Amino acid sequence: MAENRNKKMFGGCLSALQHMELDACTQCGECLKNCPVQEVTGNRQVSPPAKIRAFRDFIKKTRGLKSFVLGARDVDRGLLEDFTRAVFECTTCGACGKACSVGIYTQRLWPMLRREMVLRGIGPIEAQRDMPEDVRRTGNPYGKPAAERFAPWFPAEVKVAEKAEIGYYTGCTGAYDAIPMVKGDVTVLGKIGRPFTMLPPEEEVCCGFPLFVTGQFELLEGLVKRLVEGYTQRGVKTLVCSCPCCVNMIARDWPHFYGRKLPFGIRHISQYVLAALEEGRISPTAPVAESIIYHDPCYLSRGVGITEEPRAILKRIPGVQLLEFTRNRANSRCCGAGGAARKVFHENAVAIGRLTIDEAYEKKAGRLVLGCPACYGKVNEAMSGYEKQVKIVDVMELLSGVL
Ligand code: SF4
Ligand code: SF4
Repeated sequence: MAENRNKKMFGGCLSALQHMELDACTQCGECLKNCPVQEVTGNRQVSPPAKIRAFRDFIKKTRGLKSFVLGARDVDRGLLEDFTRAVFECTTCGACGKACSVGIYTQRLWPMLRREMVLRGIGPIEAQRDMPEDVRRTGNPYGKPAAERFAPWFPAEVKVAEKAEIGYYTGCTGAYDAIPMVKGDVTVLGKIGRPFTMLPPEEEVCCGFPLFVTGQFELLEGLVKRLVEGYTQRGVKTLVCSCPCCVNMIARDWPHFYGRKLPFGIRHISQYVLAALEEGRISPTAPVAESIIYHDPCYLSRGVGITEEPRAILKRIPGVQLLEFTRNRANSRCCGAGGAARKVFHENAVAIGRLTIDEAYEKKAGRLVLGCPACYGKVNEAMSGYEKQVKIVDVMELLSGVL
């Protein structure tokens, strides 16, 4: 395989476009003001120009005839390890790419740099290394039993069809770590009244995102084929999912690992639910008479461009006054939980999460509305013991309570 042949050369798994992006960086520093990790740590190595500069240097030293014959002797192991740590400390939020003066698609570039480090046996780091074995053993990156995936929270009144054109994928983080969110999802789906199907807990394995984003690709083809075949057998034509990371993985990467176009479409739950509201299938009746503030998840806004549907749903709830963060929509600030960085850089994630809490608190929001299970888990953790308290709720959790 080309990827294997290039194992000793940096840049082996990057696309031609990504090589052009690396060359295109002018080191202008425009992106620095948007980086949440840099904001809380001051660590310049995490910054896009520093990572790009270091990586370009590694490429230079490992390309050409001399390095082919003699090996990559000029690459300092200490520098490589520091660089690797910086690449895995980044939350892959993509905010730097949004501000980039030459339009580098960083949310895609950083995972591929991580892949480079994995191929050289240097990455990932610490607890991120356990994920493939946990997924292999239990089907999820948390190593939790499949028997606990749905049973502790699935509402008894919600009926799941054996076969249906609508499928619902829960995702591991929601099912194990953001239960009010996925409980809200299935409650709303139940109230919409169209039959929907799900895979049994032992078959609903990880979508592959945590493995992809940490550059650990070995299990991906098997996971994707297993899931696609499961939904196909159940007659699914549209797969609905609320986790922004899963939606990204399914829409952008499943076709690659499946080897062809998927036999069904993918919709974020906010798109599906907004359509149901517009068709009059459901209607929020109970009022929520408070000001709320919605946080755009990085992989929903910058990842797949969904910013208006969650707002449109929230605005339909009687009494709601919707506030906005200073940085919103495609410019939103990361919650700190992304890119599997939280597995290792726990303190960064809490400190970044508190920046979001600070602004919601200063704007006197009655509730901070989230739309991502990773945000939900981490911002709740950041709120714990913090002097500024704001109630946290997910979009579907809030909607399910007023239908
Ligand atoms: S993706 Fe986010 S965390 Fe990573 S360098 Fe860019 S702004 Fe910083
Ligand atoms: S804004 Fe873009 S071109 Fe400028 S330093 Fe950042 S990544 Fe490089």
